[in-house]
Amino acid sequence: MFNKRLKTLKDILPMARQGKYAVAQININNLEWTKSALNTAQECNSPIILGVSEGAKKYMGGFEAITGMVLGMIDFYKITIPVILHLDHGTTYEVVEEAIKGGFSSVMFDGSKRNIEENLEISKKVVALAMEHGVSVEAEVGSVGGEEDGVVGGIRYASLDECKRMAALGVDALAASLGSVHGHYEGEAKLGFEEMKEYSKATGLPLVLHGGSGIADDLIKKAISCGESKINVNTEIQEAFCDALVVYFESEKYKIGKGYDPRNIMKPGLIAMNNAIENKLKLFGSTGKA
Ligand SMILES: [Zn+2]
Repeated sequence: MFNKRLKTLKDILPMARQGKYAVAQININNLEWTKSALNTAQECNSPIILGVSEGAKKYMGGFEAITGMVLGMIDFYKITIPVILHLDHGTTYEVVEEAIKGGFSSVMFDGSKRNIEENLEISKKVVALAMEHGVSVEAEVGSVGGEEDGVVGGIRYASLDECKRMAALGVDALAASLGSVHGHYEGEAKLGFEEMKEYSKATGLPLVLHGGSGIADDLIKKAISCGESKINVNTEIQEAFCDALVVYFESEKYKIGKGYDPRNIMKPGLIAMNNAIENKLKLFGSTGKA
């Protein structure tokens, strides 16, 4: 059972859907990412979803280490906003189980690389397990294109029938692939706004937009008005961090004083991430909604 200081998608997404705003999922990679997402969301009085991919889990030393870090920071920084600790793109029942045992309050099962029958079958088992533990579930239908942790896939639009069948299993949020991609878009995003409206209405579920980076602000706003209530942002935050460190090293600031101190090296990256996250929370309309 997860620590009650954490919340689930059930606590925040129905309200977001009703109020026509979206909650950001920020994918975390390490201590700085976690600190930035928590503190920025707190300053903006916004709920926040911390996404952890299977790759990030390995990188950070496992689910329990991540849960410990997040809970410790919630206490230390006096975070009072709703925080959801969410497995991003769990590809097997086993990894979902491991995340729940490791203290996560929310999981995504991504069966999009399987056929729909198998996807539904495993999603059903995931929902049953999650319900036992009060954990929320996001499931994927269709296939978000692009590259996620080294896995490259093409876009496949979700169908209404698939969405209805997935919704009937009792999932809390639906990642219906409607044209977004992981990483950067080549050219302008072609999002299925009509389908978003239709699927959102037909399922009654909050929709999840994966690959929120590189989509123009007006398209993001339109997607929110069409039923997208959770938007995952990863690439843009990584780029903001990276760009700031490039400037730090190119300007040779590391040669001045204690510029070699890792905490000084990280500082410009942290500030850049704070700003990038703040911009997303404002764009998604979740500020003041905690
Ligand atoms: Zn994704």
